[in-house]
Amino acid sequence: MRTLFLHPPSYEDFDGGAGSRYQARREVRSFWYPTWLAQPAALVPDSRLVDAPPDGLTLEDVRPLARDYELAVLHTSTPSFAHDVRVAEALKADNPRLRVGFVGAHVAVNAGASLAASPAIDFVARSEFDFTIKEVAEGRPLSRVLGVSYRDGDVIRHTPERPKLENMDALPYVVDVYRRDLTIENYVIGYLRHPYVSLYTGRGCRSKCTFCLWPQTVGGHRYRTRSVEHVVDEVARAQRYFPQVGEFFFDDDTFTDDLPRAAAIARGLGRLGVTWSCNAKANVPYETLKVLKEHGLRLLLVGYESGNQRILNNVRKGVRLDVARRFTRDAKALGVRIHGTFVLGLPGETLETIAETIRFACELDPDTIQVSIAAPYPGTAMYRQALEEGWLDGRELVDGRGVQRSALSYPHLAHTEIFDSVDTFYRRFYFRPRKLFALAGEMAQDRRVLRRRLREGVEFVRFLAARRRGVGVTRAGVSGGHNNP
Ligand code: SF4
Repeated sequence: MRTLFLHPPSYEDFDGGAGSRYQARREVRSFWYPTWLAQPAALVPDSRLVDAPPDGLTLEDVRPLARDYELAVLHTSTPSFAHDVRVAEALKADNPRLRVGFVGAHVAVNAGASLAASPAIDFVARSEFDFTIKEVAEGRPLSRVLGVSYRDGDVIRHTPERPKLENMDALPYVVDVYRRDLTIENYVIGYLRHPYVSLYTGRGCRSKCTFCLWPQTVGGHRYRTRSVEHVVDEVARAQRYFPQVGEFFFDDDTFTDDLPRAAAIARGLGRLGVTWSCNAKANVPYETLKVLKEHGLRLLLVGYESGNQRILNNVRKGVRLDVARRFTRDAKALGVRIHGTFVLGLPGETLETIAETIRFACELDPDTIQVSIAAPYPGTAMYRQALEEGWLDGRELVDGRGVQRSALSYPHLAHTEIFDSVDTFYRRFYFRPRKLFALAGEMAQDRRVLRRRLREGVEFVRFLAARRRGVGVTRAGVSGGHNNP
């Protein structure tokens, strides 16, 4: 079947594609690669991948595509699902013979309810969907495809689960799809060199953090990996395709879950002479960090989450604060940069623990930070806990403009307090003389960094100002009227 893979338009600048773990509009304009869609697209000959938000495409832009295809695979998420259904309905209205399938964590855990949301959705592919979509595109009847739920007249049927993919080298390279269908300059992440290219070298995470979406829905808790040669060869190909790339990013849940393998990949990358960055847990030993650094590692994206040990234990983070401190000292001593991510509003949070986490972040002093609000996604243990405890009160994960809001509220800590603390956190961290001098120093050394940081600085300050006023931010400026808590 002629197949379209689509990340549909929803909120403006919505970083919610098939590679974004927490789908929302960011403080500064950011987009992850739609890697989870690129992967099946690489398995279906002559398909096309359209990533609407980074390309600035609206519903009216993508509607005409409906007539050119027989199968449309839409990646959806909990925050964008209602929008994505409307896109499916519009495509179906323009081409009633188009078969429409939804993929993504949201439909993996809510298959029946997702299909019931609209007759425009013909099927959903649950869990890992690469080979599921390949078989559907080959024309196999849905009843004989593992891992789908589909509409059969008035009845919704579910085929048996598809076993997890074990031979990860069976997945073709996504960089061929990136080159064919994407404009890599459209993908921007503030703390990565621009343009960057992002890949996965494996799926799954051994940790069991209760809030974390992917391992609990599509990836699982075993780190299933591609061979070192397969990864290095894909990077070499990407080097040829995109000589302008500033760095590669390995977006595996926890690239450092398998330390000997991480070191082996690093050595291969070192031979290619590329600069690269990856996700890591705050417990990588000095010896491994040293090997990674010697072979091109520039930055680690580290989920510290909280500066309170009890909260880390509550969410089963599996990291001790003293280990995180040691790891951070080691990385800094080696010259590895850190983008630290923190979450406010996790179970056990109080105003005191928020203050503790802000102090912890300032003490660690990562190069840059991201502060998120705890997001109880369906399919996670934290979501089930929130339902049982009555911490959810019908609030959505994002507001009317796609900006994160606090869906959780505790008897001792209101959702408004959690929301407001994000602003406080950013200000206390960034508006310190030491941090401002460091950022100014970086800008003075590189004019491209200067231009970019100035633009991001304006976006960031505007975002904070809009947040305080309870309005959404648009690319053109500030616009009013969302349901700010
Ligand atoms: S270590 Fe990171 S990727 Fe793994 S479960 Fe925890 S939050 Fe998720």
